[in-house]
Amino acid sequence: MQTFIGSNDLGSFLFTYFYIFVFGACFGSFFMVVGLRLPQKENLITPSHCDACQTKLKPWHLIPIIGYMALKGRCSHCGHHIPIIYPLFECLTGSLFMLIVYLMRFRAETLISLLFVSLLLICTVSDISARKIPNIITYPAFVILLVLRLSLSQLDPWWFTLLGAGVGFALLLLLGLLSYALLGQKGMGGGDIKLFTVVGVVIGPIPLLVTLVLASVLSLVYVGIDFAITKTLKRKLPFGPFIALAAFGSYLYLSGMWDHLMYLFK
Ligand SMILES: [Zn+2]
Repeated sequence: MQTFIGSNDLGSFLFTYFYIFVFGACFGSFFMVVGLRLPQKENLITPSHCDACQTKLKPWHLIPIIGYMALKGRCSHCGHHIPIIYPLFECLTGSLFMLIVYLMRFRAETLISLLFVSLLLICTVSDISARKIPNIITYPAFVILLVLRLSLSQLDPWWFTLLGAGVGFALLLLLGLLSYALLGQKGMGGGDIKLFTVVGVVIGPIPLLVTLVLASVLSLVYVGIDFAITKTLKRKLPFGPFIALAAFGSYLYLSGMWDHLMYLFK
């Protein structure tokens, strides 16, 4: 992993990664819209508006991060507070895009990484906001990532992709049925099962098992912290964000990005 930059190259280096950040932040803004609107079966093309007074936002209000800062976090018409999660999510997406391209450079796997992270981000927004991950997100993602995994950048061996999908689907279906039989409640939504199937396509069966353990541990830690703070036990929790976080962690490790990242801090 080459990380040494000559002073002559520094300008173009910063320029390139600044643009990748801006590019990612714009996508982040779009992912938020997709994640919020698709579960509600809302149109993606309808212009964004203020939640309180329904005033349509002007084009410059939609500029990622800058629009929020220029408006000082309030609607220009009624002064309604705009949640800070919007610019933070745009920053997060921009930073993730920048990190992926920096660590992986421009190669076939980079495209899969960016699409995979995009899917995880959209599903996280969708599951937190509407407690569901609709098929209109997971089905196209399954087809696109399956084709790319089998053609552009294969797992070793290639059939781990198919096995990963099968294991992902079967494992979460089984867990869902088990929790229904034992606890009498719907523990695993269909969206979680389909998301986990797509994760299996990208990372294969073995990292998938690690992902499931990691997601379960993360959700238990969250429930524990939440209980310590609020003194109430949340019985229903969206599992999608934990799958997304764990899947990203597993993918970081699997793709070698984690090693590169550690190398930078040595
Ligand atoms: Zn308003």
